[in-house]
Amino acid sequence: MVVRAVRGMKDILPDEAVRWQRLERTFRTLVERAGYGEVRTPHIESTELFVREIGEDTDVVGKEMYSFQRHDDALTVRPEGTAGAARAYVQNNLAALEPVSRWYYIGPMFRAERPAKGRYRQFHQAGCEVYGDEGPACDAEMIDLCAELVQAFGVRDFVVHVNSIGSAGTRARYRDELAKYFTPMSAALSEDSQRRLATNPLRILDSKDPRDREASQGAPRVTDVLSDDDAAHLAALRRYLDELGVPYVLDPRLVRGLDYYTRTLFELKITTGELGAQDALLGGGRYDEMISHLGSKRPVPALGFAMGLERVLAVTPAGEARPGPECYLAPMLERATGPALVLGKALRQRGISCELDGRGQSLKAMLRRASAMKARLAVLLGEEELERGEVTLKDLERHEQTRAPLATAVEVALAMLASSGAAAAGSAGSA
Ligand code: AMP
Repeated sequence: MVVRAVRGMKDILPDEAVRWQRLERTFRTLVERAGYGEVRTPHIESTELFVREIGEDTDVVGKEMYSFQRHDDALTVRPEGTAGAARAYVQNNLAALEPVSRWYYIGPMFRAERPAKGRYRQFHQAGCEVYGDEGPACDAEMIDLCAELVQAFGVRDFVVHVNSIGSAGTRARYRDELAKYFTPMSAALSEDSQRRLATNPLRILDSKDPRDREASQGAPRVTDVLSDDDAAHLAALRRYLDELGVPYVLDPRLVRGLDYYTRTLFELKITTGELGAQDALLGGGRYDEMISHLGSKRPVPALGFAMGLERVLAVTPAGEARPGPECYLAPMLERATGPALVLGKALRQRGISCELDGRGQSLKAMLRRASAMKARLAVLLGEEELERGEVTLKDLERHEQTRAPLATAVEVALAMLASSGAAAAGSAGSA
């Protein structure tokens, strides 16, 4: 039996990996320009971290974590990046070292969700976190950065949803209001939401079940119960978004799936319908309580977002294919292989990407392969070339070829590549 990848987990082969690399490069460039530095935390953390910070009655913790026991430790392969980064922030005592920290991460996350288009069990997130700034300007700047990122990736049709869930006191009050509202109609709710009614009624608003959606229609809005401070924070955020020219909708139903949020919540959704129900490209918000909750003596406000890379790639153009080698080396008999290896090494040392085809096939087969790989130059070493101590260099773009002594082959190849590169750049420029 053939062993297959685990359900909901995908291979990313080299032709596709170039798209990932481009995406990651753009992400790094833009967030580093905004002051974020990369953090790399372990992919495995104590299960307790996620249970405490994400919340026991969330789908992620309740149903989706890859958790296991190893020796005496209860461990979990990370389902998201925020809790681990916050743990690292506290553990490494960053609050004592700098007043504001801006971190970003890129990497795989693991959730045992039901696989669907845009929903995988291993997926990848790129995210940012800011610690130490509670002002709404920080939220506005991050939301603007998110919009800038997806636009840089080529996403045009999207809308930013913004809400505030209030600080801890407001949140508790709102929970009570929702419990009061939903209790008389509990029989009409989904089974999951009947349970949530007791444990976390906020999550009923988040449910995709049509029964819960229907029941939520007349539910009290969180924006109606915000404290004066929370309302002022939201109002300032909205003013800054207007000043930045970021279009958004205020969405009082936006609660998001994780329990750690306070105040600002946001999501960026595509509007083309391409991803069906999985239309959120990224989501984020404030989590001003988490750092204290993790044991920091100093309370530190925090804010972050995470973007799903599979979803971004699913809605953006494929872009250019993986480039082939500049130079394709074709030794056509066994005796030619040694000189070809040496020549390849010398070319690479001069910065030329170079691939040696050691299969010893016919000239025709080798050239066909070189063209398929879009190599610019083929260097052929056959019987005749060897006898004369020469190589044949074939420019596959211009369909010209020349002979050169083996001793000067590197220089000739460099000159040919430079002139064909200049020709390509020239024609691109005039196009
Ligand atoms: P969350 O960590 O749940 O707030 O999700 C943030 C973003 O990660 C979402 O907007 C998605 O783009 C992406 N995401 C979350 N779960 C999955 C999944 N199972 N498969 C693919 N992408 C996901």
